[in-house]
Amino acid sequence: MEKTPRAKLGSIHTLIHYHMKYFSYSEFFKSDTAEKYQVNNIPEDAQLSQVLGNIKALVSNVLDPLRDMIARPIIITSGYRSQRVNELVGGSKTSQHLSGKAADIHIQGYTPQQMKTVYRTIQMYYDFDQLIFYPSKNIIHVSWNGNKNRQESWVKA
Ligand SMILES: [Zn+2]
Repeated sequence: MEKTPRAKLGSIHTLIHYHMKYFSYSEFFKSDTAEKYQVNNIPEDAQLSQVLGNIKALVSNVLDPLRDMIARPIIITSGYRSQRVNELVGGSKTSQHLSGKAADIHIQGYTPQQMKTVYRTIQMYYDFDQLIFYPSKNIIHVSWNGNKNRQESWVKA
């Protein structure tokens, strides 16, 4: 995303409710942990345009095409994480959630078996940086890092 002066972006409220094709940025900033502990989960001004650009790249390259293919709602169970939220959920210090490059997703109504099929489909047909299937949580972690995509995937028990 182009660096845009804050005034041109409008209020943060308008911004986080901006809709891409299927997703809104607010879905990536929403965090049960942030709500529970009453901590901020919106990027600082200095990082904001970078984070929004990263989210948009993940959505347009992976999540929108996946949504089109599956034709079912994709729930973002964890998108962007502020430093504090990442600490509270026990995320890695270098987690790509910190920059908006990663999201954890669940396909509405899907069993772990069906989620595994989605995992395999992404693995075979999509470009990504890291792809992790968590059968016990019934979620898939997927990240996008542009021309640095590593195409790494594994299942985590
Ligand atoms: Zn994740």
